[in-house]
Amino acid sequence: MFDTHAHLYLDPLDKEAPAELIRRAAEQGVTKIINVGIDIATSQRSVELARQNEAIYAAVGIHPQEAETAYNDGHVFRELERLLSQEKVVALGEIGLDYYKSQTAPSVQKQVFEWQIRLALENDKPIIVHNREADADVYEILKYYKCKRAVFHCYGRDRDFTRKILDMGWLVSFTGNITFPKNKQGQEAAAFAPLDRIMLETDCPFMAPVPHRGKPSEPAYARLVAEKIAELKNTSVAEIEKATDRNARKFFALAEN
Ligand SMILES: [Zn+2]
Repeated sequence: MFDTHAHLYLDPLDKEAPAELIRRAAEQGVTKIINVGIDIATSQRSVELARQNEAIYAAVGIHPQEAETAYNDGHVFRELERLLSQEKVVALGEIGLDYYKSQTAPSVQKQVFEWQIRLALENDKPIIVHNREADADVYEILKYYKCKRAVFHCYGRDRDFTRKILDMGWLVSFTGNITFPKNKQGQEAAAFAPLDRIMLETDCPFMAPVPHRGKPSEPAYARLVAEKIAELKNTSVAEIEKATDRNARKFFALAEN
């Protein structure tokens, strides 16, 4: 099983040896982890973690909350481009728009997002999308650039938007918040999205699923996300595992092993 979205460099996960997190994940059948950057320092760290641990792959990118710094510093983009060419870097992410939390003006966020999309396309890499209260703009930008390989992470939008995403060929990935009883929309999206378009993630250390809610999440909990999706889709965990493995390998262009 894949955890396609982890932040192992964030507190308190950074206090543990990655090998220990990998061991606990493997015990739950989670054998591959995509560690995702949010700025240059964490993208560098992701590349390093991937180099040191067989189970870990890296995504590098500038999160919309970090867009201002990137916008004002040309060096950021050059470094990102260099990182993208490193071994085991499988995607650009997480990138996108955040009109809820980010202090950065939408116009700046959009420029940083678009710059990174162009970089992904030039380098034939998929993108991991962060979208917070920016449905229309994210959709229009991805469509404008004819992005084919995009995944909407921590997914939980309404059915109309889900349909629009699926129509474009994009994927959605689900995290621990689909186990929260009040997250009906996220559960409905997980039930609705077809098996060949979904992936598993934890977004750890955030979004720990029930029964660990409120505590730090970790890659091992991707299994609990798989179990919830299986329940919502009325199928087996094995079926979810098979489908999400296949999707992740295809999306991130990883060979079977
Ligand atoms: Zn994230």
